Amino acid sequence: MRFGGQRQSRNVEDRRGSGRGGPGIGGISGLALLAVLAIGYFTGIDVTPLLQGLEQGGAPGERRALTPDEQQAGVWVSQVLGTTEDVWAERFRNELGARYAPPVLVLYSGVTQSPCGNASGATGPFYCPGDRKIYLDTEFFATLSRQLGAPGEIAAAYVIAHEVAHHVQDELGILGKANAARARMVPAEANAVSVRIELQADCLAGVWAESVNALLKPGDVEQAINAARQIGDDTLQRRAGKVPRPHTFSHGSSAQRVRWFTTGYEQGRMEACDTFGTHRP
Ligand SMILES: [Zn+2]
Repeated sequence: MRFGGQRQSRNVEDRRGSGRGGPGIGGISGLALLAVLAIGYFTGIDVTPLLQGLEQGGAPGERRALTPDEQQAGVWVSQVLGTTEDVWAERFRNELGARYAPPVLVLYSGVTQSPCGNASGATGPFYCPGDRKIYLDTEFFATLSRQLGAPGEIAAAYVIAHEVAHHVQDELGILGKANAARARMVPAEANAVSVRIELQADCLAGVWAESVNALLKPGDVEQAINAARQIGDDTLQRRAGKVPRPHTFSHGSSAQRVRWFTTGYEQGRMEACDTFGTHRP
């Protein structure tokens, strides 16, 4: 394991097996669907094309012991999260002269609640500015590998790095400003701003990848780039049997996501990630 030797973050809130899942949903209700769509703006991956056919686990109030696989996944996530804490603390200190306050990462199983709405397998991982927490069901990594064509440890780590990057944007005041602007816009314009937010998160994930270069193995960067490609809006829409419609994109095309992740990785500086200062990101 690439991150196996790393320290574990203490900023993990583990709700798996604790029965804190909140009201169970046995199928996605209209209300939950709205929550999914709202949350979509904060997710690393827009999974709305995949809504059908996803199972909901975790009965309400259920208490159970974690499986060995779940325990191992939890340790691994906390190790990756630990690397993001070290990287961003150093970057904030050196590039901004500021202190980095890391986010909490909520591990859940099946369904849980957040100020941004219910989190479930249908929402995918996301960052909620309401409580400054990342929500992650590690089952998503299987979806990423099997359904989305992005296998590999580094693809999963990239997803965590992308969500942490949204917190970095929040710390910098970028996320709040961008979302406030989006609220005043017509949908196509709001989507265009959303794309700039998401591409910046991809670029910052690239900066993280450059910072942990010593932990990576041959082929890792290519695997991360493949993940960025597989979760581009055009690829996801095609995978869902649709013709890509660029004005509906909220996260950017595959080409854009690859380009910005690569930019962050190759340049290795936060200031290379100014997706708002360029005419066509
Ligand atoms: Zn995102």
